[in-house]
Order: sequence, then structure tokens, then C-alpha cells
Amino acid sequence: DLQSRMPPSDIPELEQLGESFNRMADSLADVEQQRRELVSDLTHELRSPLTVVRGYLEQLAEGTIAGDPELYQRLVGETRRLERLTVDLQELSKVEAGYLSIQRQPLDLYPLLVKLQQRFADQLLEEGPELILAAPSSLPPVLADPDRTEQILVNLIGNAVRYTPSGAITIDAHLGNDQEKNNLLWVTVTDTGIGIAAGDLPYVFERFWRADKSRSRYSGGTGLGLAIAKRLVELQGGNLLVRSTLGQGSEFSFSLPLV
Ligand code: ADP
Repeated sequence: DLQSRMPPSDIPELEQLGESFNRMADSLADVEQQRRELVSDLTHELRSPLTVVRGYLEQLAEGTIAGDPELYQRLVGETRRLERLTVDLQELSKVEAGYLSIQRQPLDLYPLLVKLQQRFADQLLEEGPELILAAPSSLPPVLADPDRTEQILVNLIGNAVRYTPSGAITIDAHLGNDQEKNNLLWVTVTDTGIGIAAGDLPYVFERFWRADKSRSRYSGGTGLGLAIAKRLVELQGGNLLVRSTLGQGSEFSFSLPLV
């Protein structure tokens, strides 16, 4: 029983044993609480696309609605979201359980930034934002896992693209220090998009959190991208920070240790 406690004791050895038992019980209760919250969040996230898909399929089967390309597109969209959700969840659970192997090695970020700039620029619409790579080509190498670092950038740039109807998205990098005076490279992704309200900022890195559930669902978001990115940055010894002004834009920046 996670609620049971060891009573205080006059015998020092027993008292000590009781204290460590109680600490263990507390942390087990925390884990149990987190597990419950995850299952409840997850149920909620899975239910809404499933309900939409089932509803349409039933009506199609009954013949009360006719299939048209737009409807099929909607169904494909909802199933894609379910798929992304399972992929993201698997990723997040691996990171949280510590199963993810991080292969840190000296890494030149510039070629990776060029590759991603090209990949995302190809997806941008004519009337959409510009994607600018402002980082200098001569960046000092960082100690980081290439795949995980790419994933962090894909999540941040992908968000910037999703939440920036027009203007510019700028990828930049500069040197900095942390509190222990370690040398770091900071990478920033700045956008001129919809921004995030000051009151919402503390929650952006929480899993499943979205500023506007309906809008983000529509744009295919799972609410897991930033939670994953934050943990991936921290596993590599860095920090992920956000600054944003509603209606004006956001800046996400993360640090990686220099070699
Ligand atoms: P999602 O899959 O919903 O984008 P994320 O974890 O990546 O999930 O982001 C969580 C929420 O943070 C988003 O739903 C959105 O409300 C907000 N957000 C993230 N990036 C940006 C951005 N660049 N501009 C404005 N809002 C953002």
C-alpha cells in the first residue's frame, strides 16, 4: 500500500530505516500519480481522432453521407495524427525511461543547419514566411548526438513553420556561457508568428499542452514536440528556453556544450 507509513521509533536504526522506507513510498506514490496522469491524458488524446474517424466511417457505411475527396482527406489527416501521436509517445517514453542512447561526438552544426533550412524552405508556401539561416558557417564544434540534435531542430523549426503565417523564421547561433562558466553554443529559432501569451509560457514544455487545442489539432500537432525537445537538450547537457510575445513572435533557444 503506497499510503502506508512507518511510525517514528526510539531506536535510531529503526528510525533511519523508517525514514528511508517513507521516502521510497513517497517517490513510488509520485510515479504512480504521473502514470495515472499520463494514461488519462493519453486516453483523451486518442479518443478525439478516433471518434471523428468512427463517426464518418459509420455514416459512410450507412450511406447517410457520400464519400468525397475532401472527406477522405480529413480521414487520412486524423489517422496521420494518430500515427504521429504513437511515434512521438514512443520517443517520449524512451527519453523519460532513460532507454534512449545518446552518442555524443564532435559535431559541426553548420552543415546540419543548411540541410534543414533547405528541407523546410521547400515546404513553405509562396505567401508563407521566409526561412533565413543567419548563423555563420564557421561555428566551433559542439559535443552532441547528430540524430538527436537534428530532432530537436526539426521540432523547433517545424513549430515555427506551423505557427508563423507570414514574415520570417530565422535560425542563428552564438557563443555563450552557463552559470558554471562552461562554454556553450546557443542555437536560436526566431519567428514572427502568432506568439504565446505570457501566462501560457510556463506550460509550453509540458507534454500534451497546447495554447489553442482546436487550432493545433487542426495543424496536426500532438503537443509532445517541445516536451521531447526539452528532454533531448537536457540529456546532452544543455538548456532549452523560450521567449515570446503574443501576436508578435517567439524565440526558442537551446544550448549545447562545446567540444
Ligand atoms: P504541437 O505538436 O502542438 O506543436 P509542441 O509541444 O511542439 O506541440 O508545442 C506545444 C504548444 O506550444 C503548441 O501547441 C503551441 O500552442 C505552442 N507553440 C510551440 N511552438 C510555437 C511557436 N513557434 N509559436 C507559437 N506557439 C508555439
